[in-house]
Amino acid sequence: CGIVGYVGSQSALDVVMAGLKRLEYRGYDSAGVAVLADGGLAPAKRAGKLVNLEKELAEHPLPAGTTGIGHTRWATHGGPTDANAHPHLDNAGRVAVVHNGIIENFAALRAELAGRGHDLASETDTEVVAHLLAEEFSACADLAEAMRLVCRRLEGAFTLVAVHADEPGVVVGARRNSPLVVGVGEGESFLASDVAAFIAHTREALELGQDQVVELSRDGVTVTGFDGSPAEVRAYHVDWDASA
Ligand code: GLU
Repeated sequence: CGIVGYVGSQSALDVVMAGLKRLEYRGYDSAGVAVLADGGLAPAKRAGKLVNLEKELAEHPLPAGTTGIGHTRWATHGGPTDANAHPHLDNAGRVAVVHNGIIENFAALRAELAGRGHDLASETDTEVVAHLLAEEFSACADLAEAMRLVCRRLEGAFTLVAVHADEPGVVVGARRNSPLVVGVGEGESFLASDVAAFIAHTREALELGQDQVVELSRDGVTVTGFDGSPAEVRAYHVDWDASA
């Protein structure tokens, strides 16, 4: 339902949690985050309101990191449980993904992954994406390229945002028939399903087109089509008053 991604020099957890709060009005049943830190990936997720996730984070603090993603879920496949909350990880716990929308061909992809020995831990349509990204990344060592390859195999409507512990300082997003906007700051970049999530930090935004993948780092933003071709994106200034 709500998605936030961040890379920069601030605490990713603080930026992502504040962003998720700005998206709470949309309604949701679960929430989760993942931060890249100390060469690894640190996730936390809980069914229920953000306050449940905050309680979990207070009891089991995540290591500090400056790259992270977050999600508020409106369940479509699998009930609103801790296990079904996003982010979803691969079996090695190196890649994390959050998703809005529905992957229509998830059942075939699940069967395919199970056949290759993957152990799926949730009932969601989303989880297949984490496992597919891990497979593609192990071959190309490039998360944006892995995302392009995976997206070409997906049917349905989706916004996806992912991080990989072997590519710290990078957040990758993709969209088809589901919104995703980029916020461009100085030495920091944001991704969100709605500009309200990052308006406190920057008002310079990019509107992604259909079937595009974006790679964010502290140095800037690169956008391509699912086929890898360079993409034109519309840059705009958010001038509405979002302080209310
Ligand atoms: N289909 C996914 C799920 O049920 C994503 C739902 C959403 O858009 O929040 O987990």
